[in-house]
Amino acid sequence: MALLANSWRKLMSAVWTDTVNNGEESATPPDLLRLPPEIIMSIAGMLPAQSSACLAICCRQLSQILGPKSWKSLRRAPHDDRFDFLSTLAKDLPQHFPCRNCLRIHHISEIKWPRGMEISYPGNAPCTSGGLRTSYSHLYRSLYEIHYPQIQLAMKQHRYGIDTGFPLEAFQYLEVWQGEDSPWKVILSSANAQIVSDEFLMRFQIWA
Ligand SMILES: [Zn+2]
Repeated sequence: MALLANSWRKLMSAVWTDTVNNGEESATPPDLLRLPPEIIMSIAGMLPAQSSACLAICCRQLSQILGPKSWKSLRRAPHDDRFDFLSTLAKDLPQHFPCRNCLRIHHISEIKWPRGMEISYPGNAPCTSGGLRTSYSHLYRSLYEIHYPQIQLAMKQHRYGIDTGFPLEAFQYLEVWQGEDSPWKVILSSANAQIVSDEFLMRFQIWA
């Protein structure tokens, strides 16, 4: 299966490069398109639904050979498989990202820095109505709330070097409020982010 996956990636790369670079049909068809349609359909049939759907939209010829079958199977695929499909598409869309909550692709301008929740998102936060909790707040009284899409954009900037507008400084935050039990008590809370071993880490500190 691993061998099949590697071969498929090479073929996909060849087809995609040919289509994108030339902007029109190449005089020399890529290796995959030289295969009989039955073989291509057989290969697609052994792929996961999200990979088969990606293959079907590589170019017009593959779309005609594979038809809408892969799209129909993707509709019945598990949530994670559909998200993987969107993630693959979004790799070629630097100004967009896949949304795990609503399973759509959003423009990065829809996501603001994680300042106070009421400041960042007047009204409803993006995609919080789908039933999945995609935000985190370290303190009950704090206005500071991090949404999963913000972390997605920071990691996209880190992994691919694309300027998504989310450097780690976007997650820095300092908050001061009075203690509940005494008006003289002051509570200071700070937040900082870092990426270690390709993992996004948040550090919260509280002084009372
Ligand atoms: Zn969404």
